[in-house]
Amino acid sequence: MVTAIVGANWGDEGKGKITDIRAAGSDVAVRFQGGSNAGHTIINEYGKFALHQIPSGIFHAETTNVIGNGCALNIEFLIKEIETVKAAVKDFKLMISDRAQVLCPYHVLLDELEEARLGDRRFGSTKSGIAPFYSDKYAKTGIQVNELYDGALLRQKIEASLEKINATLKALYGAEPLVPSVLYEKLRRLSEEIEKYAADTSAFLRRALRDGKNILLEGQLGALKDTDHGIYPYVTSSSTLAGFAAVGAGIPPYEIKNILTVTKAYSSAVGEGPFVSEIFGAEADELRRRGGDAGEYGATTGRPRRVGWFDIPATKYGAQLQGATELALTGLDVLGYLDEIPVCAAYETDGRVSEDFPNTAALGRAKPVVEKLPGFKADIRGVRRFSDLPREARDYVKFIEERIGVKITMLSNGPKRHEMVEIQA
Ligand code: GDP
Repeated sequence: MVTAIVGANWGDEGKGKITDIRAAGSDVAVRFQGGSNAGHTIINEYGKFALHQIPSGIFHAETTNVIGNGCALNIEFLIKEIETVKAAVKDFKLMISDRAQVLCPYHVLLDELEEARLGDRRFGSTKSGIAPFYSDKYAKTGIQVNELYDGALLRQKIEASLEKINATLKALYGAEPLVPSVLYEKLRRLSEEIEKYAADTSAFLRRALRDGKNILLEGQLGALKDTDHGIYPYVTSSSTLAGFAAVGAGIPPYEIKNILTVTKAYSSAVGEGPFVSEIFGAEADELRRRGGDAGEYGATTGRPRRVGWFDIPATKYGAQLQGATELALTGLDVLGYLDEIPVCAAYETDGRVSEDFPNTAALGRAKPVVEKLPGFKADIRGVRRFSDLPREARDYVKFIEERIGVKITMLSNGPKRHEMVEIQA
């Protein structure tokens, strides 16, 4: 059985926590896209972690964790991440696809220089090198993990790449050129440290499928950050959709039977771009302070996240794009302070009210149509059974389920692993 765990929104929905839970009893957990630009927060019996590239099944000794070919592999960061995991758990299983591509220091440099050059027109990049990385991948000038272990080939590829990159550095940014031999030595040294994890993971997954294993495919960010279907150009540079999980992991698409789509009981987003249900000022400060495990601040950058109310058009669109077969709702506890819970029920664009999620230009003109539901005014952390929640909290969950049109099968009421409300089937 293959389950994709993906986001319905802009990312930070709580996929890490949900994957950490679902990994119990799963044989394999695969990350299929993205790199070190976003973090999945996990709080369990071993401590608090912000995983960036390692799949969130890593705390289960029996689960094999695979960094898939669709990922952007920052080896230096990965080594640090492995150290963090090693300090917490003795036994873990990690594999890296030998077809994954390597995010090089020049990708980070180009990302930083480009955001600075754009000034007011910037994308709000985390400056992790993701856009230059995927540009190189699809321009066919990237370096695959297997190529790190062929010295002559690697040298040749670095020289060819730097020819173009150095010309850009000089002409566009007035920056110093990079020296091929320095990069070569660095990549060779780093590659030695991860050699034992590198493998043909697609072949491994095909065997796992043949043997009837349970496999999780974990996405990064959410549907609205998908390159094609999201709020382009304020998106990420790889596909965040369950549909892409087959490609980014290397398995047949028809094997993905279950698509667990994660959404939060309110909205948060990082980076630039339209965000219709966004709130500002003291109202936003309060939600931001109460949100997440220690406020809504980026797991990678520490920057304050933009926040807003639950957004029905955006979440419905995200769930549909993902092909959600079930929903996980997180962060319900965060709303316990409100007398009334505002929800963005529809958008008004050019005088027309609709639940549809339009293209980016129209989205920029959309205004939220806000509905208010009664607040539950209680601290619900620690509640285990759905029937023990205040009626208003249950109604809020049912309201979301009905409007999105997908069954909520997991309900999270706190950042810790055990903070889950059991929902009867
Ligand atoms: P991911 O990238 O989708 O895994 O999400 P992040 O880890 O970036 O952000 C989710 C934030 O919400 C983290 O701070 C989590 O610890 C936190 N979180 C997850 N579930 C809950 C929940 O039910 N309640 C609260 N208060 N925080 C949660």
